[in-house]
Amino acid sequence: MFTTDYNKIIEQINAINPSKYASTRNYLNGAVTKLSPYISRGVISTQLIYQTLIGKGIAKYQMEKFVQELAWRDYYQQVWIAKQTQIDDDIKQDQQPVATQHLPSAILNAATGITAIDKGITDLYNTGYMHNHLRMYIAGITCNAGQAQWYNPAKWMYYHLLDGDWASNALSWQWVAGTFSSKKYIANQENINKYCNTNQTNTFLDVPYDGFPLNKIPDVLQSAAPIQLSTVLPAQQPITLDNTLPTYIYNSYNLDPEWHKHDIGNRVLLLEPSHFAKYPVSEKVLNFVIELSNNIPNIQIVVNEFDTLVNLVDIKKVYYKEHPTANHYKGIQESRDWMVPSVKGYYPSFFGYWKKVEKQL
Ligand SMILES: Cc1cc2nc3c(=O)[nH]c(=O)nc-3n(C[C@H](O)[C@H](O)[C@H](O)COP(=O)(O)OP(=O)(O)OC[C@H]3O[C@@H](n4cnc5c(N)ncnc54)[C@H](O)[C@@H]3O)c2cc1C
Repeated sequence: MFTTDYNKIIEQINAINPSKYASTRNYLNGAVTKLSPYISRGVISTQLIYQTLIGKGIAKYQMEKFVQELAWRDYYQQVWIAKQTQIDDDIKQDQQPVATQHLPSAILNAATGITAIDKGITDLYNTGYMHNHLRMYIAGITCNAGQAQWYNPAKWMYYHLLDGDWASNALSWQWVAGTFSSKKYIANQENINKYCNTNQTNTFLDVPYDGFPLNKIPDVLQSAAPIQLSTVLPAQQPITLDNTLPTYIYNSYNLDPEWHKHDIGNRVLLLEPSHFAKYPVSEKVLNFVIELSNNIPNIQIVVNEFDTLVNLVDIKKVYYKEHPTANHYKGIQESRDWMVPSVKGYYPSFFGYWKKVEKQL
């Protein structure tokens, strides 16, 4: 379903219809772009997408909603850079009430009884993708109806998403759970029916909005248990590195085929066991990352820690892209391609950030 061919990915950028996007994006069958797996993995950037739309002569007012969504991506990345691992904890206020640290079993097993939700979870397992509105519904059911602390459920969702981006993920869960926003998000059955094209009644969410917060955890969400998430990395194959040449480091957040494309050097897809121990991903996600790396000629996979890899090459000629998960890399750090590179740092709210971005666009 998701191509890994770079030329086809570029074609998908060219096919974006920002007006249709703005009017339909909240619907499951709306004109969303499905570009996030490529943005998250650093194959393409928000800047490249924005410049492509400008190049096509699309008026700014027509693309405002879409560009604002792209800005959410950059915003969350800036929060991650500023707060580092603090994004793993409640940012603005503590989540309350919390009845469990674990994902409700009904979510894990796609058995909430709400057909749109259960189908969305099954599709996530099968495809590695989920529409934004479903992600919001599921986080709301988990944290606000089920009173589960957001962190472990977020890790479960991240594990399965081809577009897994820990900033967008953790901070969106926090936004829904009310720890990085001013109020908790929850939608009722009527809202789900409207955007998911279902017609269900008599579910635990079939209540008017003044029925929230629910006065007790619905029975179907009562059971929750720890789940084990781990990544099986490939076995190391023999590799050849020339330590007289520069070395370009790619990883699961930087798979940009255009990066230093014309420079001769070693190209390494670095799969660090320590990274995947902290941020586990499914086999489907790992295979997707490896397939995307095939767009980079002569790339070799190294399953090891950065500190071991650099013993094999000339550290003065090691190049990598800035990223919060690459803070321990050494060598020459290069910037990512932000939509507006000059707007940096922590903004407590997206709209504070957006105001600055909008002025520069
Ligand atoms: C609980 C939850 C978890 C999420 N986890 C992730 C995640 O791990 N990785 C991830 O990439 N996104 C995550 N998102 C954000 C959003 O759901 C996805 O980026 C979007 O659904 C991707 O599909 P698309 O490319 O078709 O999006 P489109 O609607 O076509 O949007 C275009 C681009 O804008 C950006 N964007 C759109 N909506 C958001 C948003 N709410 N936050 C940040 N950027 C956005 C993305 O880069 C996206 O590719 C999460 C949202 C929620 C509510």
